[in-house]
Amino acid sequence: MKIRLASPLQPDSIVDGEGIRTVVWTQGCKHHCKGCHNAGTWDFEGGFETTMEELKKELSLLKGQQGITLSGGDPLFQAKACMEIAKYAKEIGLNVWCYTGFTFEKLLKSKEALDLLEYVDVLVDGPFILKERSLNIDFRGSRNQRVIDVKASLKIGQPVLIEKYKEERIVENTIPRAQNVFI
Ligand code: SF4
Repeated sequence: MKIRLASPLQPDSIVDGEGIRTVVWTQGCKHHCKGCHNAGTWDFEGGFETTMEELKKELSLLKGQQGITLSGGDPLFQAKACMEIAKYAKEIGLNVWCYTGFTFEKLLKSKEALDLLEYVDVLVDGPFILKERSLNIDFRGSRNQRVIDVKASLKIGQPVLIEKYKEERIVENTIPRAQNVFI
């Protein structure tokens, strides 16, 4: 089986989920969210193809990573291939986060998506909505997106949000005003 990627594996990311992670940037997305930062990943003919064998070999050689993050593009447009990667990642002791423009509720209706979710620990779901954009929410671009505990959610058939990521962070300026003035 092959998978189309937008770029090579990106190890050592600290912004695509908890801990130190390797991002798998998949190519192809039909959501076309206004304000998307990765519009170069929309084209299903873009990027490059690689084989599962090659990708698994690269993953097996990684050092110091706590998990992988399936991102893109939208990994759910290549759900079967991503399922194989996620399954392999779990086998070698890595946890799995996955980003998607679909909602969890929508994914529940797709067998391929459910097969992938079996191997996903955390799902960040929903499209990027420019009007809901915030810089004060961890691991998401807009307030409508949710950080979901997949195992717990599959058990009850509805999204269970991870408590610590539910709320928007209050970002305070801890530097006293006077210290900002250089005289
Ligand atoms: S789902 Fe993600 S990659 Fe796709 S258009 Fe929306 S923000 Fe961009």
